[in-house]
Amino acid sequence: MPLSATQRLLNTFAAAKYLELPTPDAFTAEYVWIDGSNGLRSKTKTLSKKVSSLKDLSEWNFDGSSTEQAPGDNSDVYLRPVAYYPDPFRRGDNVLVMCETWGADGKPNAFNFRHDAAEHFNKVQDKEGFWFGLEQEYTLLEQDGWPAGWPKDGYPAPQGPYYCGVGTGKVMYREVIEAHYKACLYAKIAISGTNAEVMPGQWEYQVGPCPGIDLGDQLWMSRFLLGRIAEEFGVRVTFAPKPIPGDWNGAGLHTNVSTNATRADGGMKAIEAAMEKLAARHKEHMLVYGEDNQSRMTGQHETASYDKFTWGVANRGSSVRIPRACAAEGKGYFEDRRPASNGDPYQITGIIVETLCGKIDG
Ligand code: ADP
Ligand code: MN
Ligand code: MN
Ligand code: MN
Ligand code: MN
Repeated sequence: MPLSATQRLLNTFAAAKYLELPTPDAFTAEYVWIDGSNGLRSKTKTLSKKVSSLKDLSEWNFDGSSTEQAPGDNSDVYLRPVAYYPDPFRRGDNVLVMCETWGADGKPNAFNFRHDAAEHFNKVQDKEGFWFGLEQEYTLLEQDGWPAGWPKDGYPAPQGPYYCGVGTGKVMYREVIEAHYKACLYAKIAISGTNAEVMPGQWEYQVGPCPGIDLGDQLWMSRFLLGRIAEEFGVRVTFAPKPIPGDWNGAGLHTNVSTNATRADGGMKAIEAAMEKLAARHKEHMLVYGEDNQSRMTGQHETASYDKFTWGVANRGSSVRIPRACAAEGKGYFEDRRPASNGDPYQITGIIVETLCGKIDG
């Protein structure tokens, strides 16, 4: 049973006087990692010294048998810090730490998709200069699993007034979105914008452009912030690509991509070459572009077909869209519209670099 609104309010008041206690000699690091079911987990470590570089954050471990990441008889999984951010919950000199997961055998955990992607970027990033900007769509749900603000035993009026909506009845829970935006800025996440989406209760924020592997680190941390903030508001977040069947928009993770070559004068040539490479590996990409993406990619609601690769200028019904302004300038970036909202940004950016630059052995 969820707590009553009154109890939540009382708890917040009761906690406040402890949260104000001065603790000048203690700092915290919240270690965050991706579990065995595309979710996030975290646990807290006390440090005696302020963090001023990654080296101040030691390797740690957790019980992988409790997160579907390891068997019970060999359950230790190791956490290796890869990036840290100012902590908007505890503030001060406390930090949030993004981690990779590693096995006792010295191999990356089965769900450590960052490792392979980072190897690709290590090889090519200096030369290629990949930038990624991702548009994270998601849906807020009430405790009962029905979209936030929807009538309890029915549906809201059809889509139309909700996208970038303003006014009572058109947007729900804007406070959550504002809190998350500010928390991302405080944490130095490169959040670049936000908007209400086409389906009521659905929202989007954008992260990027970020170079190479940074995008995955920052996007995962932005999801952590969203999950934590939603807890406080008693609302649930789902990244399901098609939360409500029927004439309601699904949720995606549009992936905007550029390189030194696409951004340079005459970059359209490099973009066109990229389209040929993406077309040749459409199936492989769809395999890592999120679970249940078939239910979203119906060819309707601003999506392309699941099975066929297409691209076009300003076309929101194609797999990849070249923004009109880029086509006019003859350079810039392209938007891969295929990834689902629950896609893993490490796998998505990883397969894009692999497809455009070739597979790296090892
Ligand atoms: P849309 O019109 O598809 O809704 P948005 O404004 O939501 O577009 O998102 C555009 C995204 O493109 C942002 O995440 C931004 O960071 C990203 N972006 C802009 N320029 C580049 C670039 N040169 N390379 C990669 N990503 C870019
Ligand atoms: Mn224990
Ligand atoms: Mn967008
Ligand atoms: Mn959108
Ligand atoms: Mn888009």
